Amino acid sequence: MCGIVGYIGMQEACPILIKGLRRLEYRGYDSAGVSMINEKGELNVFKAKGKVDDLEAFLSDKDISGTIGIAHTRWATHGIPCRENAHPHFSSSGTLSLIHNGIIENYATLKERLIEKGFTFVSDTDTEVLVQLIEYYKLEYKSDLLSAVQRALAQVIGAYAIAVLDKNNPDEIIAARKASPLAIGLGEGEYFLASDATPLVEYTHKVIYLDDDEIAVINRNSGLQIITLQGQAVNHEVSEINLDLGAIEKGGYEHFMLKEIFEQPDCLVNCMRGRINPEGTIVRFSSVIDNAEQLLNARRYIIVACGTSWHAGLIGKTLIENFCRIPVEVAYASEFRYSNPVIGNGDVVIAISQSGETADTLAAIELARSRGAFVYGIVNSVGSSIARNTQTGSYIHVGPEIGVASTKAFTGQVTVLTMLALCIAKERNTITQAELEEALGELLAIPGKMAEVLSQNDAIASLSRTFTYAQNFIYLGRGYNYPVALEGALKLKEISYIHAEGYPAAEMKHGPIALVDAEMPVVVVATNKLLYDKVLSNIQEIKARQGKVIAIVVKGDDTISKLVDYVIELPETAEFLYPLLASVPLQLLAYHIAVCKGKNVDQPRNLAKSVTVE
Ligand code: GLU
Repeated sequence: MCGIVGYIGMQEACPILIKGLRRLEYRGYDSAGVSMINEKGELNVFKAKGKVDDLEAFLSDKDISGTIGIAHTRWATHGIPCRENAHPHFSSSGTLSLIHNGIIENYATLKERLIEKGFTFVSDTDTEVLVQLIEYYKLEYKSDLLSAVQRALAQVIGAYAIAVLDKNNPDEIIAARKASPLAIGLGEGEYFLASDATPLVEYTHKVIYLDDDEIAVINRNSGLQIITLQGQAVNHEVSEINLDLGAIEKGGYEHFMLKEIFEQPDCLVNCMRGRINPEGTIVRFSSVIDNAEQLLNARRYIIVACGTSWHAGLIGKTLIENFCRIPVEVAYASEFRYSNPVIGNGDVVIAISQSGETADTLAAIELARSRGAFVYGIVNSVGSSIARNTQTGSYIHVGPEIGVASTKAFTGQVTVLTMLALCIAKERNTITQAELEEALGELLAIPGKMAEVLSQNDAIASLSRTFTYAQNFIYLGRGYNYPVALEGALKLKEISYIHAEGYPAAEMKHGPIALVDAEMPVVVVATNKLLYDKVLSNIQEIKARQGKVIAIVVKGDDTISKLVDYVIELPETAEFLYPLLASVPLQLLAYHIAVCKGKNVDQPRNLAKSVTVE
């Protein structure tokens, strides 16, 4: 959360910074700000509450010149979203400006000490403490900025990606990271900084990802130098990024979320490419072949994730247990990291995260590795921290996801988990070649069937208008579809602010049924072949209490269709693949309800993507 950008070179910095902030706005949009040093040597800071658009309007009559600058788009952790709390923050003397992504956990103690020394504060943020602390060390030791940054960071407990400007050195940006991402783009005589690579691709394909406890000194004349917090020089590998600009733009769609929902058939083709052969007889992951000993003979799998990825993990559990006959637990990363898990050698942890930067998931990985477990990552962002901190793993290859509510990353995660389960099952001989081929044939047909589901978009849009009045929603599903119900409810909550709950269908009578009346819409994912009659009874129970039922059924289902108020049909597929099809109409339903209610679906209130804070 929070997006940071920096630039130093020959060009005017501000337009590059603003464009970069727009690319990172998915990370937060409580406030935005820029800081540049102009030709006269003045260090300016301009900031505004709200979005990058608000900042741009504010800048229209300001002196925004300068070829060195830093910028920030905020997701507030400490202090309300307002101009005073917006970054960049000035030091007391006005000679330093700083941007920060993360949380300074011991900020209160540090602040107290600084106040005793006569420093004054204008914001409620943890970040301001950092810039004052750097200034304090600079003055106290009469040192340069780098030594002051090193001294200050040695005092800090918490997570940060920072960039600092010093009015007295208009040719240098100092940046550092611990547990929050920071990429440095290398151009011709110019350098870029950003929380991810999307602001850089337009200018360069050469990127260095800073590691924890590293500081980058970027100087206009002497270039880039990376050192550890203790001052040892580090030699970094330069990565080539291949990011298509079209992938990070809306491409004619009204919202990123809608674009990403519609991209899903292509995303899944990309996700399966090179892993399943076109004939559908082989599924291969080099990560499985290369780590066969750990993965095939595991005593147990533990999936750790947060939010939507956790829902994908629940589907992964059922897939792995059914196909591979290995016990699987699914844990919230935020709980797992502070637990005392009975875990060690012989256990495999699968960590799932779209951004690959989720702070809780990273901490869970660290704990699992320290106890001797083998860790497998499933992420979308190439080169992200989770990709680099796991022993092996798989990318989902669905392209950048910009809409804050996750859609294509979810179906990509489920697709990878499905292929992984089938691959491991085949290697363990818990499925036959014939069973594998049948499963792969069905999986390869999913993108086409998903396109069929998407063709019902208009019908789902008009159905959604009926439900804009709703205050509450219940989502029900069983077996593979239970996590789909949870995910459907989460999507609706996230972007329309309607209260929604997902339940295993049969649990309804143990409580939630008390909520059902003529005002209550209930979405039932009713594609199960095995539990069809049971789900049918659950629907009868809702109808008996006048609930409004929207059923997701398999094409040709006359029984449920006659009983319910609204029907969305899915093409027939294998039982274990319905989550991939059923989640699409639920994404569309949430999207259209939110649009009808006039909500900002790409930037829902209070939320942001890439949750780099606890
Ligand atoms: N803690 C900082 C603030 O509240 C940065 C927040 C973040 O990175 O999400 O301003």
